Amino acid sequence: MTSPAESPLEHEGSEPRTAKSTKPAYTPPEVAADPENELASVIASAQELVQWEQTLGGLGFPAAKTAAPALGSAAGEGVEDMRARLQVLSDAAASCTRCALHKGRTKTVFARGTPDTDLVFVGEGPGYNEDQEGLPFVGRAGQLLDRMIAAMGYDRDGVYICNVVKCRPPENRTPLPTEAQACAHFLVPQLELVRPKAIVALGRCAAENLQVVPPAGRWRGIWGEWRGIPVMPTYHPAFLLRSPQFKKPVWEDLQAVLKLLNRQAPKR
Ligand code: SF4
Repeated sequence: MTSPAESPLEHEGSEPRTAKSTKPAYTPPEVAADPENELASVIASAQELVQWEQTLGGLGFPAAKTAAPALGSAAGEGVEDMRARLQVLSDAAASCTRCALHKGRTKTVFARGTPDTDLVFVGEGPGYNEDQEGLPFVGRAGQLLDRMIAAMGYDRDGVYICNVVKCRPPENRTPLPTEAQACAHFLVPQLELVRPKAIVALGRCAAENLQVVPPAGRWRGIWGEWRGIPVMPTYHPAFLLRSPQFKKPVWEDLQAVLKLLNRQAPKR
């Protein structure tokens, strides 16, 4: 892996940190080395990276428009009950005054996508567009996230997307620890209800609040665990818009997620 140990994002979301994890990092299953297939593996990885860049519209490629359907993680009454419980939480958030962020909100931003999924993305908090529309990741960063999701083989609405805080922080600043802690009142049951097979934490703030940032050293690309659910921390799409050279390590992180889920990126 060629991830930069000291990238600018090491300081993204530089507000004081919240609680740190005392749990050991999640360790994905080992895969036996096969020297005879090493060259084929390198070629395959290179092809996948080109497809990833093509999907994101990088390297001069147009963005891909197709995506495979997502897997469901539950069915029947269980899903309807989960949707109903999430709706109760969403309604409660809409009138929440647990922290000062409610004073500046236009709309609360609870989630988008389907809770009947094996994959959840958690971001930091709503921006201007999200605050206006009441949906997470609908601006430019959201469009990039949609292309990342498509590159993984999921439909845009085949995953579940939410944020650490449900109301927009002023000037799009990182949520304060007190605000994140107040909004855990919603995030914790939200993730417990969906209980995906994997969570992708988008940016350091999300990773810290899911308690998967180690006390020192690199945080991106290292499996953690939140309440028994594997968590992959990676860079936020907004950061990738400013620093597209970090698309490659993010794609490596997402490939690790696909591997955990026994899925493969679609060939294009
Ligand atoms: Fe309530 Fe969360 Fe909004 Fe704060 S950010 S007012 S805790 S919904």
